[in-house]
Amino acid sequence: MKISARIASSRPLATTAMHGRVETLRSQGESVIDFSIAISHFPAPRPVLDAVAAAIERERIMPYTSVVGALDVRTRLAAKLKKENDIDAGADEIIVTNGAKQGLYEALYALSDPYDTVLIFKPHWPAYVATSQLLGLRTILADLPEEITPALLDGLGKPDIVIINNPHNPTGKVYTRRELEHLRAWVERIGARVIVDESYEHLIFEGGHTSLAALCDWRDIGVVTLFSASQSYAMMGWRVGFALAPAEVVNAMQTLQGPITAAAGHLSQVALEVAFATGAPRAMMADYRDRRDLAVRLFAEVPWIVMHAPTSGPYLWGDVRSLTLDTVGFAEALLEEQRVAVMPGEALGVPGYIRLGYISDDVATLREGIRRIIEFGNAFVAH
Ligand code: PMP
Repeated sequence: MKISARIASSRPLATTAMHGRVETLRSQGESVIDFSIAISHFPAPRPVLDAVAAAIERERIMPYTSVVGALDVRTRLAAKLKKENDIDAGADEIIVTNGAKQGLYEALYALSDPYDTVLIFKPHWPAYVATSQLLGLRTILADLPEEITPALLDGLGKPDIVIINNPHNPTGKVYTRRELEHLRAWVERIGARVIVDESYEHLIFEGGHTSLAALCDWRDIGVVTLFSASQSYAMMGWRVGFALAPAEVVNAMQTLQGPITAAAGHLSQVALEVAFATGAPRAMMADYRDRRDLAVRLFAEVPWIVMHAPTSGPYLWGDVRSLTLDTVGFAEALLEEQRVAVMPGEALGVPGYIRLGYISDDVATLREGIRRIIEFGNAFVAH
C-alpha cells in the first residue's frame, strides 16, 4: 500500500505508543501501574458536568456551530483572558479547537512554510517535534536552561518560529516575567513568530503564571497562545481547548480546521466555557501537591535518581544518568518485569531521564509503583 512519504517518515508519538502498550497489556489481563502519561483521577469540575447535562436536556438539536466556535463561548473566553491573563482580546481573536494538539497543528501550519525552522527547548512535549516534522519544518532543539538570558537567546540563531511551553512539561518550569521580557525582546529583534502553550496554566504549586501575550504586542509579533481544558480542568477526553491569535491567524487556522473537523463538539464547547469560568481547581491542586510531596520524599534517599519537586504540573522529571543502562532499556525492562510504565527521556529529547505522571490512580498505587521502580533500579547501579 502506498503511504504518503511525509507520514511514512514520521513515527507515532512515543507517549501514545507507550500508553498503547499499557492498554494492550491490560487487555490481556495484566495489571500495570501507568506513570507514562498523566491522566487525572479527578472528574471534570461539577459545574461543567451540570452545565453539560442541562445542555443535553435543553438543546436536543445541536447544530454545527461556526468553525471557530460559538460566539457566546468565545466571548466568555475573552473575558477569562482579561480576568486571569491580563490580555485584551476580541472574540474574533479566539478559535475553539479539539484540544491544544489541534491548536498546535493549525498554528504551526498557519505560521509556516515547508523548511522553515522551529526552535523547541528540550526536554519537550513530543507533539511539538512530531507536528513540526509532519509539516515539513526543520526543528532546532536547544537545551532548556535554568534561566533564559539574552546571551543564551543570542546564541540560538534566527529561527522562524519559537515554541514555548509555559508552564513546562516535563520539568515544571514556570517562566518568570523577566525571562518572558527577554524572549519578547529577542523575537521582536529577529522577527520570529511564537507559539506559547499554556495548557498547564492552573497547575502551579508555587508562585504565579504570566502569559507572554500580556507582556507584548502579540498581534504585531504573531504570537499564538494555546489553552486546553485537558490538564488544568482534568478534561482530557473532552478534547477541547482554544487558541488566542491575531485575527488573520485565526482565519488561517479556521481555513484548515473547516474541512478537517469543522467546529469542536457542541457539548465540549459548553464544557470548555464553563470550565474556564470556574477558575483555578483548588481541591485538585491540593491533592496533586500532596502526591508530589510524597513522591519526592520517597525518591529523596535513592542515590541513583536526582529529582526536584516541580513548581508546576503533573510530572516528576528524574535524572537517572548514574544507572548502568540507557533509559529506553530501563523503561522497557521496568514494564516487562515490574509492570510499571514510565516515559524514557529519549521520547522528550533528553536521554538519561525518566518522566513520571503522578496524578493517576490512588495514593497506594503511587507508593507501590515508586517502590517497584526503586527496587528495580537498585540492580543497575555501578559499584
Ligand atoms: N500541551 C502540553 C505540553 C501537554 O503536555 C498536554 C497534555 N499532554 C497538552 C498540551 C494537552 O493537549 P490536548 O489539549 O490536546 O489534550
